[in-house]
Amino acid sequence: MDKQEKKKRRERWSDIVGISCGIILLIFLVVNIIQSHTVKTVGDTNISAEAMTLTGTSMGRNGPVEVEVVADANRIYQIRVLNHEETEGIGSVAVEKIPVSVYDNQSIEVDAVAGATLTSEAVKAAIADALESGGLNPDSFRREVAAAAPVEKTPMELDCDVVVVGAGGAGLTASVLATQEGKNVILLEKIPFVGGNSLRAEGGMNAAGTNLEKELGLDDSTVENFTEDTLRLGHYLANPELVRTLAENSSDAIEWLKTVDATFTGVKATGGCEGRKYLHQPEGGVAVGEYLVAKLKTQVEKLGIDVHVSTKATEILMENGQAVGVMAEDAEHIYTIHAKAVVLATGGFGANFDLMSSYDPSLANAVTTNHSGATGDGIFMAQAVGADTVDMEQIQLHPTVIQSDGSLVSESFRSLGAIVVNTEGKRFVNDLAGRDVVSQAELKQPDGYCFIIFDQNLVDHLALSQRFIDGGYTIQGGTYEELGKNMGLSDEAVKNFVNTMNTWNESVAKGIDEEWGRNNGMDDDLSTAPFYAIKIAPGIHHTMGGIKINTNAEVIDTSGNVIPGLFACGETTGGIHGGNRVGGNAVCDFIVFGRIAGKSASDFAEALS
Ligand code: ADP
Repeated sequence: MDKQEKKKRRERWSDIVGISCGIILLIFLVVNIIQSHTVKTVGDTNISAEAMTLTGTSMGRNGPVEVEVVADANRIYQIRVLNHEETEGIGSVAVEKIPVSVYDNQSIEVDAVAGATLTSEAVKAAIADALESGGLNPDSFRREVAAAAPVEKTPMELDCDVVVVGAGGAGLTASVLATQEGKNVILLEKIPFVGGNSLRAEGGMNAAGTNLEKELGLDDSTVENFTEDTLRLGHYLANPELVRTLAENSSDAIEWLKTVDATFTGVKATGGCEGRKYLHQPEGGVAVGEYLVAKLKTQVEKLGIDVHVSTKATEILMENGQAVGVMAEDAEHIYTIHAKAVVLATGGFGANFDLMSSYDPSLANAVTTNHSGATGDGIFMAQAVGADTVDMEQIQLHPTVIQSDGSLVSESFRSLGAIVVNTEGKRFVNDLAGRDVVSQAELKQPDGYCFIIFDQNLVDHLALSQRFIDGGYTIQGGTYEELGKNMGLSDEAVKNFVNTMNTWNESVAKGIDEEWGRNNGMDDDLSTAPFYAIKIAPGIHHTMGGIKINTNAEVIDTSGNVIPGLFACGETTGGIHGGNRVGGNAVCDFIVFGRIAGKSASDFAEALS
């Protein structure tokens, strides 16, 4: 066989191997997709002759939820979720649990899964829709569900070096860090899945002085500028030392994230920062919270960290003024968890309306973007052992919240060029100013709501925008005029809207927004059809205040002293964001201070060993 022939054979073989690998990969992906979007049938096989097989749908958080129900007028025999696009690890938990609960209770009136209310309601509505499609009355399956009989909980004692309370971004980070430091960690999470509010972070992670910024020639993205921007936008209320710590450790945090396989590929403008870019985004503009929580969760699993979900910490255990563990409970146990160090990472209180309205009564009926676990537990537990709090009255409204269900349209839309108009079809503010400025301006507009406007070019560059289209949140139009009409604007307002869009595109071309002085998120105009609008208004988003800490994430008591053995990080703490949190700083906060708390707790535990 000559050389040519051998070469050809080798090439043919490598083609065959390549194609085979491709096919295997494709089969693997298809099987994975099918597995992640369908669940097994729930129910029994002893089915009456009258039973019908019915299908129904309802809109979930990310798209339609489709179910198949086998039922007659008296009984639901089987439920199967045929399709859904709900978020893995959150909505998917409800997709799995609700059919079981509906079948067991023979009622659609079962409780929603904590933290996944929207998906839970969607599954229940889809079941009702299926029943209705067969002429069955869903109301006959709305019987009241009897409260579960109280169980005698078994006491249980556990031991570890570090107990971390709360498995959002901060708790996951602190747990990983402490485990990497060789410590034995127990991580507690009160709802059935990890991720907390962090899972809902969409835009990106602010960081300064990073390698990526240097590669991109972003000379203004310095630690000094980031520190000053954070302090200024927080109305100089924040603790400057904590802000500097946040900024100084942000670049290291980005490097550390690479070790857990999380990488950022783009840096966008941060709202209110006069065009300076700190907002690091994962590839393709996917939502940063889901991305980071998935990476951290994988790491937690790899490291074998002892995670207890549906387990609520109730009290910090103290001995001689030092934190030595926590009390916690799940459905069956009361745990006494002995630990050398305790880390509180329980998030904010943006779902605790009593507490929020004690600071601002106007918030009593506001919509919140927070998940139901954000009730401020860590703050109460810390106060009970003498901790001080700061800035508790500083509660942030986010300007672009969908009022029907609290879904957040993240700042990344505006960073990539979206604008906000009122029902008169006009802009009324620098739409990428600080969140407080934009929210307050919106509250002064007629009709109590506004629209965020974007185009197909933005959709093509921001993967997370697709979920708003699939979820039925967007109003669309092939021209500005058509979009204006579909938004329900008056004829006059449609004319204004067309003018607003044309003027905006001219401003982008000139690089100057003469009308409202916007100077960032102006890289692309909004001229690529189709055009999109989402109806929005301000909603509660972040609680800036919380437990007082120092730069080592040690908790400070009301006399200004450190409480030994007690650490806190993330949204449960105060002092980092002052009077207004900058978009992208919550993620920076939970990674930077999650790492600091994990390290400080490890060092404390080490010193006791
Ligand atoms: P952060 O961004 O600071 O990590 P998150 O809201 O993302 O805040 O996460 C906080 C987590 O703490 C949530 O998942 C919440 O359910 C959990 N949590 C709150 N209170 C308790 C508690 N008492 N016991 C266990 N977990 C808790």
